Amino acid sequence: MSVSFERGHAASWYADTANPTPERPALEGDIDCDVCVVGAGFTGISAALHLAERGLSVVVLEAVRIGYGASGRNGGQIVNSYSRDMDVIETRYGAETARALGDMAFEGNRIIRERVARYDIDCDLRDGNLFAACNGQQLKGLREHQALWERYGYRELELLEGEALKREVISDRYTGVLVDHGGGHLHPLNLVLGQAAAVESLGGRIFEHSPVTELKHGDPAVVSTARGRVRAGRVVMAGNAYLKGVLPEIEGKSMPCGTQIITTEPLGEERARGLLPNGLAVEDCNYLLDYYRLTRDNRLLYGGGVNYGGSDPADIESVIRPKLLKTFPELADVGIDYAWSGTFLMTLNRMPQFGVINGNVYYAQGYSGHGVTCTHLAGKLIAEVMHGQGERFDAFAGLPHLPFPGGRLLRVPLSALGAWYYQARDKLGL
Ligand SMILES: Cc1cc2nc3c(=O)[nH]c(=O)nc-3n(C[C@H](O)[C@H](O)[C@H](O)COP(=O)(O)OP(=O)(O)OC[C@H]3O[C@@H](n4cnc5c(N)ncnc54)[C@H](O)[C@@H]3O)c2cc1C
Repeated sequence: MSVSFERGHAASWYADTANPTPERPALEGDIDCDVCVVGAGFTGISAALHLAERGLSVVVLEAVRIGYGASGRNGGQIVNSYSRDMDVIETRYGAETARALGDMAFEGNRIIRERVARYDIDCDLRDGNLFAACNGQQLKGLREHQALWERYGYRELELLEGEALKREVISDRYTGVLVDHGGGHLHPLNLVLGQAAAVESLGGRIFEHSPVTELKHGDPAVVSTARGRVRAGRVVMAGNAYLKGVLPEIEGKSMPCGTQIITTEPLGEERARGLLPNGLAVEDCNYLLDYYRLTRDNRLLYGGGVNYGGSDPADIESVIRPKLLKTFPELADVGIDYAWSGTFLMTLNRMPQFGVINGNVYYAQGYSGHGVTCTHLAGKLIAEVMHGQGERFDAFAGLPHLPFPGGRLLRVPLSALGAWYYQARDKLGL
C-alpha cells in the first residue's frame, strides 16, 4: 500500500519551542521485539512507556516525527473525563459500565502528572482549566456537570456565576464558568518528546520517517515499512486520524476532523493577565467549541471550529481570528504569529474506540477531541491487558461503535448538517 507523509512537524508555536531532541533514524532491515507500536503520539508513546517499564522490548515506528500528529499540535488542555460525559454513559451503557469508566475518568490526568514528575519532563505544566457557559442553558449544564463529577468522587470543581467569573476570564461572552482546579494545561509536544526519551532510557527503540505500509497478522505479526520489517509478538496500532488505511478493520466507524489554532504575538505579562488573571485554560460549552490558553511567553493560543472529513481551510487566521475577537475584542490590534491545523478522530458515540484483532493487535483511537488525558490512560490499559489484566481495557473495548450515517460518501455532509443544527441551538441559547 502506498502512503504519503510529510518530513517534519507542522509549523507551529510548539514546533518552534520544542525542547532539543535528536532526529531518530528510519528503520532499515529486519528486527524482532515483544511489542511493535505504530505511531508516536500520546497513545503510542504512553503504551510504549508503560510496556518498557514492565520490562518488554518495544519498537515504535513513526511515519514522520515524534508528536507529528494531534499530540504535538493540540490545545494542550488537560481536560478530565471523556468527550461524552458520565451521564450519557450511564443512560446509554448502564450503571456497571458507567461505574467502570467513571473510576478511570480522572486517571489519565494523574498519569500525565506522574510521568512529568518521574521523568522530570519540562513541558510548562500548569494547574487549572475551566468550562465557560455562553448562555443560561449552558450554565444549567455546568451545574449538572459539577453535581455529576462530585457523584463520581471528584471535588476539585468551583462554579463562578455572573461578575464573579471575571476572577478567571475577563470577557463579556460568558454567563458562568466551572473551574476545574485539578485540570491544567501544558506544552503537548514537549510532553510527548519527554516521554519518548523515557522510553529510550528503558531500552525501547524509536524510528522516525518510518511509515508502516503493511501489517501482516500472525504470531509473530509482521509490520513493514519501505526499508524494514518488525516481527513482534504483539502490535499496538496508535495512528489515530493519521493512520490512512493500514488497518481497514477499524477505520469505518470513525471520521477524521480538522480543527485549527492561532497564536498571537507575545502580549506581555500585564496584558495577558488582563485576559486570564490566573492563567487557566478555557473551553466554552458550544457544540463547535472555542478553546484557548496562555503560553509561557504570554501569547494567547486560541483554537476552534471543526472541519468534518479533516480538510484544512485555505486561510486559518481568517476563520479563527473572528472567534478570538468575539471573546476578547480588545485584541484587535494584536498580530498573529502562528496558525496551524490538526486532525483528530471522531466516533459516532464520541467515546474512544479500543479493541484487539486476531488476539495480538491492539488499538486505541477516536478520543473525539478530548484525548490528552484519555490517550495516557489508553497506554496504561494496553500494558495491563498485555499482562493478563484485561478488565479495565475491556470496559472500553465493550462499548458498541456504529458507522457514521451516510457511509464514506455522505458522512461528512450529514455530520456538518448535524453540527449546523447544534450550532444554531447554541446561538439561540437553547
Ligand atoms: C488542533 C487540535 C487541538 C486539540 N486540543 C486538545 C486539547 O486541548 N485537549 C484534549 O484533551 N485533546 C485535544 N485534542 C485531541 C488530542 O490531541 C488527540 O485526541 C490526541 O493527541 C490523540 O493522540 P494519538 O496518539 O492517539 O494520535 P496522534 O497524536 O494523531 O498520533 C498518531 C501518530 O501516528 C503516526 N502514524 C499514523 N499512521 C502511521 C503509519 N502508517 N506508520 C507510522 N506512523 C503512523 C502519525 O504520524 C502520528 O504521529 C486536539 C486535537 C487537535 C487536532
